[in-house]
Amino acid sequence: MSAAEAFDDLYQEIVLDHYRSPRNRAHLDHVPESMVHENPTCGDSIKLEVVLDDARKVQAVRFDGRGCAISTASASLMTEKLRGLSVAEARALATTFIHALRGEEPVDELDGMGDLAAFKGVAKFPVRVKCATLAWHALLVSLPTNV
Ligand code: ZN
Repeated sequence: MSAAEAFDDLYQEIVLDHYRSPRNRAHLDHVPESMVHENPTCGDSIKLEVVLDDARKVQAVRFDGRGCAISTASASLMTEKLRGLSVAEARALATTFIHALRGEEPVDELDGMGDLAAFKGVAKFPVRVKCATLAWHALLVSLPTNV
């Protein structure tokens, strides 16, 4: 694999787009610092706010923090992907995404996830897997458990 191919695998156009223009990024000063999730190997840091509607579906997810292109793009794409899902569906999506990137499930699982397939190449770079999954780990602990 050449350096250029490796770069292309990591930084798909959609990843760069979401890094340059993150969706649903906000100042979440009301979310306690104890809810901050960090990836020390890269310096990524994130906290989330999950808003459910009356039907207990995800109405909005916002994120705050700073990180590399992979972690920021993953958080941004995640916020768009979750809208309208039930808590159980959101949890299942996060679990599959994390397992596929870690190689615990076939990485081709990402093919059925729309834009999230852009992260398939990240699975080849274990250090960057932590960047791509940070927001999803934060999601799993930010989703309410009483639904
Ligand atoms: Zn990172």
